[in-house]
Amino acid sequence: MNQHMPPEPVALFDIGAQRRRLGRSIDEAVARVMAHCQFVSGPEVTTLEKALAEFCGARHVVSCANGTDALVMVLMAIGAGPGDAVLCPSFTFCATASPVARTGATPLLIDVEAATFNMTAESLARGIATAKRLGLKPKAVIPVDLFGQSADHDAIGELARAEGLFVLDDAAQSFGATYHGRKLGTLADATTTSFFPTKPLGCYGDGGAIFTDDDELASKLRSIRVHGQGSEKYDNIRIGMTGRLDTIQAAVLIEKLKIFEDEIDARNAVAARYARGLGNVVTVPQLAPGRTSVWALYTIRLPQGVDRDGFAAALKAKGIPSGIYYPKSLHQQTAYRGFPVADGGLPVSEQLSSDVISLPMHPYLDEMAQERVIAAVRSAL
Ligand SMILES: *Cc1c(COP(=O)(O)O)cnc(C)c1O
Repeated sequence: MNQHMPPEPVALFDIGAQRRRLGRSIDEAVARVMAHCQFVSGPEVTTLEKALAEFCGARHVVSCANGTDALVMVLMAIGAGPGDAVLCPSFTFCATASPVARTGATPLLIDVEAATFNMTAESLARGIATAKRLGLKPKAVIPVDLFGQSADHDAIGELARAEGLFVLDDAAQSFGATYHGRKLGTLADATTTSFFPTKPLGCYGDGGAIFTDDDELASKLRSIRVHGQGSEKYDNIRIGMTGRLDTIQAAVLIEKLKIFEDEIDARNAVAARYARGLGNVVTVPQLAPGRTSVWALYTIRLPQGVDRDGFAAALKAKGIPSGIYYPKSLHQQTAYRGFPVADGGLPVSEQLSSDVISLPMHPYLDEMAQERVIAAVRSAL
């Protein structure tokens, strides 16, 4: 082989490597669905919901079509609407806040802390005060667990209870992570996740789930998932949607859940190696006390004055892809500019949007690839 040939590029995410590991198990699981033909609400959906409940300890699991619908369904179930404020971090994926706007409620955008990228109780308190000043009723808070790490649920929950806010945890990037020994899915009034293929637990298309310990909420969600159905087939008792998870996706997820803990360990090993190799040249992500991460993304912050585009181009030249999550906070995006932000502004979100960059992260990144990433980052600076 020509010794000057550049090595194969490293993958930012690698769904193919996981598929090779799973071998025929997924093909066989999908083939079983093809044989029984219950493509909607088949037996695999119930099996998956039970397995997810066992995995995280939630009393109820309501699977659904995607992580965005999961949020919409909960907001519909709690009756969020015009005049309500739902507090969301601005430094997140747009699908945290779009469900709020779709119900007619107002997303009120608040700031995050730089160390964990997550909302703080202090920014939540400021946002609640802003909502009241604007004549909006603070109805709910969506504490996102960004990049794989849990938000500070004790502090957020305490303030939410004092203010009568419903806590809807957006764990789209962090299902499998723990907070003081408890898995996400049990830490809020309701928790949602996404099974989009590149999330830590992904399917082969779109999928999502809602977790709650509240019996009444769970039964409302099951009704909303199927057009607002009641116990009598032809009398729909509320406005609902087509919110179901496909049986084939459930079959895929049942197989993937079996190796999920092992994959989380592998992600943690990658994160630990990155931290050792990069901690003295860039700001590496920090875990707050009592928290574990599933490392949906490994997001570093570049030192002041480093040109991010130039840095990404230097990595790319060495076969290392990178991604910017998120170059604009929500309040800086066209569709969200009109929504209110917490008094005092969102300086941390804005700073993060200007200096973050995410490195390749998946469970099948071998040590040589990790060392290549580390070397490329160090030489690009
Ligand atoms: C991916 C994601 C969602 C939406 O999930 P989909 O399944 O893509 O609809 C919501 N919130 C966050 C933070 C996400 O990362």
